[in-house]
Amino acid sequence: MLSSLFARRPDAQDPALWTPPGTTVVQRYRNSLGPLEGAIVLVYTAASDRSSYYAAACLGCTYRAACNDRRVRLTETEAAELANVHAASFRAINRGVPAIPDDTSAAQIVRSRLWSKRTYGTSPHHVHLIDFHEDRVDLQRDDDFIKQAMFELVRTEGDFLQAVPAYSGTGTRFLVQPHPPRK
Ligand SMILES: [Zn+2]
Repeated sequence: MLSSLFARRPDAQDPALWTPPGTTVVQRYRNSLGPLEGAIVLVYTAASDRSSYYAAACLGCTYRAACNDRRVRLTETEAAELANVHAASFRAINRGVPAIPDDTSAAQIVRSRLWSKRTYGTSPHHVHLIDFHEDRVDLQRDDDFIKQAMFELVRTEGDFLQAVPAYSGTGTRFLVQPHPPRK
């Protein structure tokens, strides 16, 4: 059902021009291997969630950064600094745009991220699209896919994820339920 929502990506995209779905790329760094061989490091923000949080992701390796070492979300300057350092110090080969996961794997990325937000307390985690910031390069799906994947989890794992009306009255808020208390 999920798959009908998405057109497959046309083949052979240039990583120097590629924008992960759901993001706005603001800067690109080519690593020190040089213009042909070097992998691209992206600095991007969310296209929809109008926050001023940025992330850095390398298209040649698994480097992803959406928080600094104090676990605070990144400004553009901070994300660009991390991207620049990564491009200068690591020498991943340009492998083009990372492989796109199938819908089942993409939905699993969404679920894993939500699971990582589950708390041991009593209050639920209020999900924001920004929670998926560092997954965008691997996920390669738009916001609608993420929402549909979450609706599916609400249906199949209601003790894990719940949906309630948005405060505004239109739309939905998703709440990751805390881990059940130990008996
Ligand atoms: Zn890298």
